[in-house]
Amino acid sequence: MEHPENDSQYIGLTVNGGVEQPPIVNPYLKKRPRRKPLPTASELVEGILKGDITALSRAVTLVESLAPDHYALAQEVIEKCLPHSGNSRRIGITGVPGAGKSTSIDVFGLHVLKDGGKLAVLAIDPSSERTKGSILGDKTRMEKLSVHPGAFIRPSPSAGSLGGVARKTRETIVLCEAAGYNNIFVETVGVGQSETAVHSMVDFFLLIQIAGAGDELQGIKRGIMEMADGIVINKADGDNVGPAQLAQAQYRSALHLFPPTASGWRPEVLTYSGYYELGIPEVWDMIDRYFAFVKENGYFEIKRQEQARWWMYETIDEQLRKHFYDNPAIETLLKGAEADVLAHRKSSFAAAAAVLDHYFNKSSEA
Ligand code: GDP
Repeated sequence: MEHPENDSQYIGLTVNGGVEQPPIVNPYLKKRPRRKPLPTASELVEGILKGDITALSRAVTLVESLAPDHYALAQEVIEKCLPHSGNSRRIGITGVPGAGKSTSIDVFGLHVLKDGGKLAVLAIDPSSERTKGSILGDKTRMEKLSVHPGAFIRPSPSAGSLGGVARKTRETIVLCEAAGYNNIFVETVGVGQSETAVHSMVDFFLLIQIAGAGDELQGIKRGIMEMADGIVINKADGDNVGPAQLAQAQYRSALHLFPPTASGWRPEVLTYSGYYELGIPEVWDMIDRYFAFVKENGYFEIKRQEQARWWMYETIDEQLRKHFYDNPAIETLLKGAEADVLAHRKSSFAAAAAVLDHYFNKSSEA
């Protein structure tokens, strides 16, 4: 094209030819290696049963994955591991942030592993969904355990609802047990949401408390205390020994007001120091006594059966809800129904009935 600016008469700026654009793709870049193909269920199960950590980690990752083909494979692995599971002590450990859970799990874990065996530390952390980062189960929080060859530490699965996260942890327990982990700790933040889920998968529920300022029992959800098989007051060291003992007395008298537990076990209250490693054998002695007690009176089995039933219904509930809410037609209908309810055009019940009618007619046609 002719550029008038390039005329020799013109004294302004001239236009130069452009430069070749370099290609946007780097020609020297090597092709990325293809992702490793998924292992088969039998390969994974074989590895897990041999106690191979890599196979176990891969299977847990599949359990946590949201991809449908991973889900199917994970379920197959779980089914195959199920006959090899169940042979462990499952212990739930809860306490508010700062109560000393990770410090304590580090020393409790080493205490348990002293006599051999293996320990898996799992976590259920509902906050990890919101913050996109798990505050529990982080390896760096358990310095000694994380380098112990008998310990397997896994942070909380982060995707999905609390129910979904809890189910994944429940399934991970099966895999860990099949891999020979005879001690399972499930850690959770004691703030009231995830405790029911943890309670539904452990044999013993340990509540870690600290002696704080003011009323010791304030801010503690009664429901959590009611679930606890043992309450332990941490940081009973230095000047804190007195306040910890006072808290112990208060918890003991509070527990007297609670109805008897289904197991017949009377929850105990102890003090200890995770940091200075004081009173650790006593805490473990209590847990040993609990297991002896419930194995003797049959409650151990009863509770595990109740939990198995609970999980069956929980899974049905979850799948039904998912099938309903994931349906695009229902999603649209719900928006309209919600608007009708808010504008007082329909009652909540009539609006719900209309959506459900549509859903059930649809699903029976499908
Ligand atoms: P988590 O949030 O419940 O996991 O609590 P951490 O284990 O991270 O502990 C919180 C803080 O309390 C840390 O600064 C620990 O060093 C401290 N801590 C934990 N256990 C004890 C204990 O037995 N005695 C004392 N004095 N401090 C402790």
